[in-house]
Amino acid sequence: SHWEKQVRKSARPRSRGGLTVLVTGASGFVGTHVSIALRRRGDGVLGLDNFNRYYDPKLKRARQGLLERSGVFVVEGDINDAVLLKKLFDVVLFTHVMHLAAQAGVRYAMQNPGSYVNSNIAGFVNLLEVSKSANPQPAIVWASSSSVYGLNSKVPFSEKDRTDQPASLYAATKKAGEGIAHTYNHIYGLSLTGLRFFTVYGPWGRPDMAYFFFTKDILKGKTITVFESPDKGSVARDFTYIDDIVKGCLGALDTAEKSTGSGGKKKGPAMFRIYNLGNTSPVPVTKLVTILEKLLKMKAKKKIMPLPRNGDVEFTHANITLAQAELGYKPAVDLETGLKKFVKWYMGFYTGSKKKSSW
Ligand code: NAD
Repeated sequence: SHWEKQVRKSARPRSRGGLTVLVTGASGFVGTHVSIALRRRGDGVLGLDNFNRYYDPKLKRARQGLLERSGVFVVEGDINDAVLLKKLFDVVLFTHVMHLAAQAGVRYAMQNPGSYVNSNIAGFVNLLEVSKSANPQPAIVWASSSSVYGLNSKVPFSEKDRTDQPASLYAATKKAGEGIAHTYNHIYGLSLTGLRFFTVYGPWGRPDMAYFFFTKDILKGKTITVFESPDKGSVARDFTYIDDIVKGCLGALDTAEKSTGSGGKKKGPAMFRIYNLGNTSPVPVTKLVTILEKLLKMKAKKKIMPLPRNGDVEFTHANITLAQAELGYKPAVDLETGLKKFVKWYMGFYTGSKKKSSW
């Protein structure tokens, strides 16, 4: 069928030895960048996304347009749809899965807890079930989150630190995902690599994140709320630029070993790893605002408030020694440089001509 042809064409590597990757959450912020980077270096990429309406559907469709112009076809479907997933694995022999589909955001979990359980737990299990039965089994790299460190206050966070105090349902489902992944590695020999991303930002980013809606509100002259923690001053984040995260994802795909199982039979130990992907330099949110004011050439109207107990933690800071040693991960973009690129994209996409909003 036409659909099958599109799927096969998109997934076919253009270079010798190229990977064949299923990217879930392909029309998301990180998914778009990772898919395009893989395609550009010659890998085969098939996207999957349910285009949920958690944030501006027009932004997701615009990213899809960008993907299609780069030769990446995005199947519209849900990771909970076992029939669809099996069909994709029948049509294409995926060597790798880059699993980025999830219900993201910590505050929205108080409004719609079910969507977190559906996508981050049930959907992940469904994807692992189909992957374990695929022949060959794909190596899986998936997005966990720095939020798993929760109320842990020993910084910087390293992978061995405690993760038993999540501060949001989002964090709890991400933490559950790590445990679930481990069982599929242990029982079925699936190769699994988890990446704990730290506050990713950049062009084509997520409108629910502070740097994004601060930009929008500052431009509109609307008051922004900046949270302060009682003991540590301004809330701080280890903001990590999207291009650095993409390099980390590609590094993880390239170093992922083959799964050892096949058709659900365990043959030997396959790899299970978890890495921090951060920037190692936390920036107070007050500083984020100052940088945005400078880039936008506008003064922000600020309201300082104590950090409410709504799922946000006070401070994040990644120790990236492990990813540096094993994935060759090396973040290179500081917050001001990265925000400059974000603001340029934002102006082009939301206020400028179509031409300016291109890659
Ligand atoms: P995003 O919301 O932009 O992308 C996720 C995509 O997955 C969306 O396009 C959404 O439509 C899709 N999706 C959600 N549920 C789905 C389902 N059940 N079936 C199919 N598609 C589904 O988020 P993002 O910022 O690109 O995040 C990518 C991954 O990284 C997520 O797993 C997220 O939890 C994780 N993460 C992101 C950050 C960050 O700062 N951006 C930090 C830590 C972890």
